Amino acid sequence: MMSSKKLEFSEFKKVLTPEAIITSVPDLYFSTRNTRTLVVEPESASWIILQAASRGFLLRSKILRPGTNERSWKSLAEIYELDQSFNQNEIDWWLYSLFLRNMITLNGQTYYQSSNLWAVQQYPHYFNIHIAESCNLACRYCRCDHEANDRELMSVETVKKIIRRVLEEIPREKVIIGFHGGEPLTNIDCLVAGAKYARELASALKKKLTLSLQTNGVLLTRYSELLKELKIEVGLSLDGPEAIHNRQRVFASGRGSFGEVIEGLRRARKLGLNPGLLAVISDPQNYVEVAKFFIENLDSRSFRLNFLCYEGRAKKGFNFEVDRAELFVEHWLKLVDLAIDYHRETGYWLSVDDLNLFIAHLADKSRPQMCYRAPCGAGNSILGFGYDGQIYPCEELVGKDEFCLGTIDDPKPLPQLLVESEINQQIQQQRKVENIKKCRTCPWRRFHGSGCLNKSFEFFGDIFHEDPMCHFYRRVFEELMWKTAENPDLINLIGYYKNYLKDPEANFLENII
Ligand code: SF4
Ligand code: SF4
Repeated sequence: MMSSKKLEFSEFKKVLTPEAIITSVPDLYFSTRNTRTLVVEPESASWIILQAASRGFLLRSKILRPGTNERSWKSLAEIYELDQSFNQNEIDWWLYSLFLRNMITLNGQTYYQSSNLWAVQQYPHYFNIHIAESCNLACRYCRCDHEANDRELMSVETVKKIIRRVLEEIPREKVIIGFHGGEPLTNIDCLVAGAKYARELASALKKKLTLSLQTNGVLLTRYSELLKELKIEVGLSLDGPEAIHNRQRVFASGRGSFGEVIEGLRRARKLGLNPGLLAVISDPQNYVEVAKFFIENLDSRSFRLNFLCYEGRAKKGFNFEVDRAELFVEHWLKLVDLAIDYHRETGYWLSVDDLNLFIAHLADKSRPQMCYRAPCGAGNSILGFGYDGQIYPCEELVGKDEFCLGTIDDPKPLPQLLVESEINQQIQQQRKVENIKKCRTCPWRRFHGSGCLNKSFEFFGDIFHEDPMCHFYRRVFEELMWKTAENPDLINLIGYYKNYLKDPEANFLENII
């Protein structure tokens, strides 16, 4: 029923004749707090909070039926007769709100065809090249648990071959090439040659190119000027204040790297580079402290906080007990409160990844971030390349033989290689919420998309499990919905994701009736 333009209330009312049949739908999720009830329609990722009046009426009329999946139907005339203390226009608005969220059908029709909502892109646009698997740090949670050696550097010939094949063979107009590792700045010749070659070729092929790099910052003082010249966007890993950072991000000697990293950040900023800050949170009690450090000491209002994942060296030295996810929820919610307080005091809204993304998912069906789709972006939005030219469906899978798609020396065109690869077929066709037991019936499955296949693989040993931090996602999506009922201003935490969505404020504010 849905066209690209949103159905207006006035149009809806034209179809809403007294004979119109309203039918309840199964599989809704209900959660009640005090006088309000949250309702979620999982397949279309729709939600609404009912206040006392709407809730009372919609439950009494059996238009909404918590606790049963039996359908019931009534004509509009019968619904009006149930309780004449409500004005008919008000009832129409409630029905309209439910219809737009696939929570009722009207004359047998739903608003969304849910299966059309979650299309996956066909060809990757982001190419993540590990130009150095080796590193000048030995972080305690590094995803590689081996002692990377100096030979694990990509050759100039290999990086050029990857760039040429990606730009020539993948039919995408906008391309992002990210230089990663290990520490990419330890292979500076390869970086410079790759960046210059990519610019020349993209310009000849009339493609729009973004170059990025993720660094541990140790060599940033030395190379900031060069990175500026090459117009490379820089992401900087910095885990927070000195004591926290130095516990985790250390040289092989055990000495912390905070001093070098801060010096690198200062140098980069002085030259006009503005590195994006990324902290890995291993102890959830540090969330607020790290955020405050970025805001107050480093004057940053936009940063990313990732929680530590069960991978590589982290498996040995950190706590991954079952209560871990709930602790992350508790402290992450304090981060949301911090963002609200910060706005109250200064008038500015923070943009904190992935808080901004969660807000975006509450406001819109677009899923611009590939890790929150099912199947996720592995092999359809991103490709990863090892230092030796091996190809993988994602940066996080680089170096894992089970996921190797082939090598850059394979004469087969890359699109053909993607289509014919068995592991890629398995990811694209089978790693879907429907095929993951816990996700299949999860109310949040289209908000979250079942999470990271790499994290499932690392934690459970296969790609057909939920994200190991599942409990975190289940809790925070719901908590954010409730928080918006108290404070609709929360939409402003959407940050830069606003650029990807059509009309997030309107969608958001109409979620409370
Ligand atoms: S990982 Fe957990 S929260 Fe995410 S969709 Fe699956 S069951 Fe739901
Ligand atoms: S494998 Fe994980 S990191 Fe890679 S695209 Fe999928 S969800 Fe994202």
